[in-house]
Order: sequence, then structure tokens, then C-alpha cells
Amino acid sequence: MTRVSFRKRDGLARTGILEIEGMPQVRLPAVADCRELFPALDSLAGTNIPLCAPAAIVRQFPPKEGIQPVTIHPQLDNRAVSGDCVMVAGWHTVMANPRTYVDWLIGLKEKTPVDTAWYAPAAALPSTIAILCYSGFDLFDYTAADLKSAQGRFCTPEGDFPADALNSGICSCPGCTAGNLRDHNRHALQQEIALVTRFIAQGQLRDLVESRCRLDAAQVAIMRHLDQKYEFMERVQPIARAGIMRANSGESMQRAEVQRFADRVINRYIPPKTDVAVLLPCSARKPYSLSQSHRKFQMAVGGRAHELIVTSPLGLVPRELETIYPAGHYDVPVTGYWDAEECAVIADILARYFRKHSYRRIIAHLEGGALKVAQMAAAQCGITLEYSCTEHPTGSIALNDLDAALAGERKIKDDRLHGMISYQFNCDVDTKGTTLRGHFPEVFYSRNNVQLFSIDTGTGMLRPTLDGWKIIPDGYRVQIDDFIPEGDILAPGVISADPAIRDGDEVLVIGARALGTGRAAIPADEMQRSRRGVAVHVRKIKRVQV
Ligand SMILES: [Zn+2]
Repeated sequence: MTRVSFRKRDGLARTGILEIEGMPQVRLPAVADCRELFPALDSLAGTNIPLCAPAAIVRQFPPKEGIQPVTIHPQLDNRAVSGDCVMVAGWHTVMANPRTYVDWLIGLKEKTPVDTAWYAPAAALPSTIAILCYSGFDLFDYTAADLKSAQGRFCTPEGDFPADALNSGICSCPGCTAGNLRDHNRHALQQEIALVTRFIAQGQLRDLVESRCRLDAAQVAIMRHLDQKYEFMERVQPIARAGIMRANSGESMQRAEVQRFADRVINRYIPPKTDVAVLLPCSARKPYSLSQSHRKFQMAVGGRAHELIVTSPLGLVPRELETIYPAGHYDVPVTGYWDAEECAVIADILARYFRKHSYRRIIAHLEGGALKVAQMAAAQCGITLEYSCTEHPTGSIALNDLDAALAGERKIKDDRLHGMISYQFNCDVDTKGTTLRGHFPEVFYSRNNVQLFSIDTGTGMLRPTLDGWKIIPDGYRVQIDDFIPEGDILAPGVISADPAIRDGDEVLVIGARALGTGRAAIPADEMQRSRRGVAVHVRKIKRVQV
């Protein structure tokens, strides 16, 4: 018997505990002596069928029932249940074929229960742990590292070297001090697992993977192919993170979270009722409003236009969404130069936005790469831009020109709440009569002295109160069984959940005897596919009279 419980998730990666009957707990992700953890492994037959073997052959060797770990195979129907440790034998053989790696991974993940621990035998090296954990594997053994030792190779996260590196000062672990290559390689593996665990806990494994994969073309390709599987990857990405998103590589634009932001700005977000827009450059400081430059822009605009910030890698950030993850959280290297792919991707986002939302006037208060992108987008969707910048956008001439360009335009109603609700909850609500208190970005929205929403200053997301939920007509509901929750809602207590719900989303819990507010701990489909673990972190529960 095994039991698995996950603590922290970061995309497909997670930290947690694997309990195997009669064994000490294993903290995941882990490298362990798996023949000791699973004594049955030695006697199991048919576990080493190649991953590329055709279905007819694979079916001749069905895995034995009731034995851990449970073998899963691309050509085999799933036999695993919640709490199992599943094993994908030979996974290391597919690491050199990125496209197949991604296809098989998705196939296996889709058919296997989510609350299972994933074991990849003989696959772990200090240089592969990050991408393997990023792909959703949790348990590893020393086989590959020991093989490297036998081959006289010295392993590091950056790759391996001839054994004389042992004395070169690259590492000073106990293995290196003792001149023992095997000990060094095992130590390097444990150290990398510890580092990856830390990055998962901080919700920044992607940043580490973008950095680690650089020395191995196949790993770069795996990451890129996974990014192409937007639907699969988007579903497992948290809706918000509290930390910084480091958008330091070209691949940042393809991150599911970045694509999701653009998609929601175009398809969910509802702009204010005005037909004048001004395109502004981003600022290093987030949210932009707190920067010197944006204070100047806002003074010049004076509320007479809809402010849209043109930025890489997100594309377009409407002013109302500037605090929301990842708009308030990204960090990019600023050179003023935008490469061709960046320009094409971002111009496409702008063009899609302007095709959906038309304006009578669009004033580009931009320079450099951002200006070029706006011009590309204008050409793509057949709109005409006005320009208010002949010098640096924050210069007094440019600011005066912007002010002059807006002369005679009417002041528009500042309704951040409306924009944020449309983006976060995908609905068009009437915010009439709502008032705001607090200091930006820590604000509260009320109506008739009843608080409706607060803003989570870590993620920038709206947090509805039970009264706030009354104005959100539908969606983001989690239906629970007939019980009054004490503490968090566990997955087995969930009857149904809106498929749009992602990890970190604000949700309304509805039961026959209780109504509650909370935050989803896992995406909707996992709430239904899991037998263990927290589904919703509950903030407030109200009993309902039956
Ligand atoms: Zn060492």
C-alpha cells in the first residue's frame, strides 16, 4: 500500500510525501534506493518493455495486480489508482526525442489519476532533474548517476566531465574531499533535488528550467514543445503567483501564463466605455502606476483616454489590470531593442485586441521597440495611429503634446473594478454605486457600506466576500456535498466545479447546508479526479438554513 499527498504545486511539478507501508516517509521530489523502497521490483517481470513497443506486444505483459510501483506505458490502458506510485520504465530513452517525450508525457498524464507519485527509473542525473520534475516526475533512483561513475564521468547540473574534475575545485562535497567519484555523483544528485524542491516551493521552477536547459538542446526542445501544448500546460498553471516572474529568455513569451494573460485581455476583459485610447510604454517598477514615469503619463492623460501599456512579454496591459499577476510581477532585461520574434508576437496580440475593441482615436505615446510593435499591429488590422512623441515619452515636450492631443476629450469614469471582474471572472457586472477605500494597490470595494471585494496585494487578484459573489452571476462555483465544512474542502467532498477554475482562483463554495468563499488549491478537473488532498482553501463559511 502507498499513499501520496502533495503540498506545493508548480505546473506539473509538486512537492509532497510518499508513504509506503513499512518504510520511512519519502519527501518528494526524491532520489532514493528504489529497490529498497519497492522490494517487489527485483522480481517483477515485463517492466522493461521499450516505450516504443507496439500495443500488441505491450499487452502480452500486463503489469501484475496489487504491486507497487504500478507500471504505466504509452500503449497500456491505465491501471493506476489514486495514491499509487506509478513507474515509467525507460523514460530516459525518450529524452533525446523531445517531440515524442512531450506526446507520451501528455498521453500518460491524461490517463493516469493526478494524485499518484511518478517514478522514472535510471533517468536522474544532476543535469536532468530540473526538466524531469518540471515534466511531473517525483521519484528517482541512483542508477544513472552510478552508471556515470562506472564510466568515469563527473556529473554536475551543467553536464558531465572526465573524472579528473574531481580534484579541480568545481565541487567540494564530501565525495570530492574523499576523492570518491560515486559519492560525488550521488551527492550532486541530492543537491540538485534540494535546489529544485526549493524552486518548486517558491513557484519558480520554470525560471530554473529556462536557465538549466541551456546546455542541452534536447531539453530546450522539450520545454518549447511543452509550451506548444497550450491547453495541457495552461490547465496546470496557477492563476497567480506572489513572486517575481523572470522573463529573461525568448521562451518567456511562450509560457502558458503569459499566453493566458494575453488571451484573457483579448477575450474576457471588457474595456471602459470610451473611444479614445493611449498606448504607453511600461516601467521597470510594478505596478506601473507607482513609477515616476507613469505618474507623469497619468497627469498628462488626465483620465481623458483609456490607458493601454505596451510591453514584452505580456503584449498589452490595460491600466485596470496592472496589479494582476503576471502584469504586476514580471521582470525583463531592458535594452530598448525588441527582436523580430518578440515584435511579431506582441504586434499580433495588439492587432487581435484592436480587432475586438475598436477606438475612434489611438494615440501612440511610445518610442523604440514598443512604437515599432504598435505600427506593425496598426498595419495588420488597418487602423491609423496618432503620435504624441517626438522625443522621450517622459520628456516635457512629449507630455505637453500628449496633453494637447487629448484637449476637448471627455473624462472617462475610472472603473478598475469592472475591468478586473471581467478579466478574472469572465462576466460583465454593473459596478454602479461601488466605492473604494484604502491606499492603492491595497484597496477595498464596497456598496452601501457592505464590503464586496478586497485585493490580494501579493497576486493583485480580487477577493470577493459572500456579498461580492452576489454580483458575479455565474462561474467559479464549487458544488459540495451536503455537509458543513470545518476548515478546507477536500477533493472527495467536491461534487462539481466550474471547468474554468485553476489553482489559485477565487471560488464560491455552494452546498445544501453551507456557502463559503475560498481559493482553489487545484484546478477543477483535478478536484474531480483526486481522491485526496485539499481542493479549496476556505476563507469564510456561512451556514445555510434548510
Ligand atoms: Zn563533489
